[in-house]
Amino acid sequence: MSLLELRDVDAFYGESHILRDVTLSVEEGEVCSLLGRNGAGKTTTLRAVSGARPPAVRDGRVRFKGEDITAMDPEDISARGLSLVPEERRVFPNLTVAENLHLAEVSENRSNTVGRSLGSVQVEHVGMTTEEVYDEFERLRERKSQKAGTLSGGEQQMLAIARALKQNTDLLLLDEPYEGLAPQIIADVEDAIRRISESGTTILLVEQNAIAAMDIADRCYVIDQGSIVFEGTAGALREDDETRDRYLGV
Ligand code: ATP
Repeated sequence: MSLLELRDVDAFYGESHILRDVTLSVEEGEVCSLLGRNGAGKTTTLRAVSGARPPAVRDGRVRFKGEDITAMDPEDISARGLSLVPEERRVFPNLTVAENLHLAEVSENRSNTVGRSLGSVQVEHVGMTTEEVYDEFERLRERKSQKAGTLSGGEQQMLAIARALKQNTDLLLLDEPYEGLAPQIIADVEDAIRRISESGTTILLVEQNAIAAMDIADRCYVIDQGSIVFEGTAGALREDDETRDRYLGV
């Protein structure tokens, strides 16, 4: 059984039909990447998975750990161990690094309560402690008293990822974590993603930066105009000049 499975998903913003028969799966333990150009449907796919509305999923099914989550609320999906780090990195700029991490814990407790009240849900995977997070991100430990708004772009990205890890996370969805970052900083964020993956969290990474994503991914999907046009290993995509040229421009 795949950890995450989308089958023939059709998603709409109002009458705009965006995702068309999207079928993809993410296996436990892997780093899977969804690549595509501007407006191809990457963020829409992540929103459809995490339960964010819009878009409306009008056809097809999304399963997480075998359970149908297609019509579920974001809070209930998150309580099951799926966390999304959105493109805009949602950290609280006027709060310190430590306060941002503390708030992530408070919202975790709330979503666990939702989970327990559902009865059937197993809330078995507890998120990382603050110390464990600081062990992963030494740079955040060094800056724990600094206001998040004064961190560099890469550090803010790390803080956003760290906040997600403080919650119960078996599957981490990352929306363009390299956006706007200089190459050296991309390498740092890449290292952090690798360490998280090695510690057992499965990752679905959405990127426009195909070169960086192929570096880190085990498997890749390419999406174009809302349809999946390639599925294979990162190695296979690297060798597929036509797909890279036509859909990724690299
Ligand atoms: P990018 O790399 O630029 O973030 P993307 O692949 O993530 O692109 P999406 O954000 O999923 O692309 O957008 C897919 C399509 O859906 C685009 O044509 C976009 O204009 C449209 N779209 C996105 N959000 C909305 C919305 N809230 N209402 C209407 N259309 C939307």
